[in-house]
Amino acid sequence: MSKGFRSADETQVLTEQATTAQIEEILRQDREQEARSQEKRLQGTYGTCENCEGPIGEERLAALPAATRCVECQADWEAGRTSHSPRS
Ligand SMILES: [Zn+2]
Repeated sequence: MSKGFRSADETQVLTEQATTAQIEEILRQDREQEARSQEKRLQGTYGTCENCEGPIGEERLAALPAATRCVECQADWEAGRTSHSPRS
């Protein structure tokens, strides 16, 4: 057991925790999106982008039934949620 290995392990654990937190946050946002898509279904606005109110598209809904944004708005949103890095 060398100290070198131990500190490398601790660094790895910290990295894994940060990654897990980020994944959990993304999964939480996906669950919220799923809940909103069910709400939209009840409201009769399913298939309409919640951002620009344009059509999401049948192909996109077939591939991703929980989609609540059109391709363009989804790309903008994903860029926004992944753009903030720990280092500024
Ligand atoms: Zn849109």
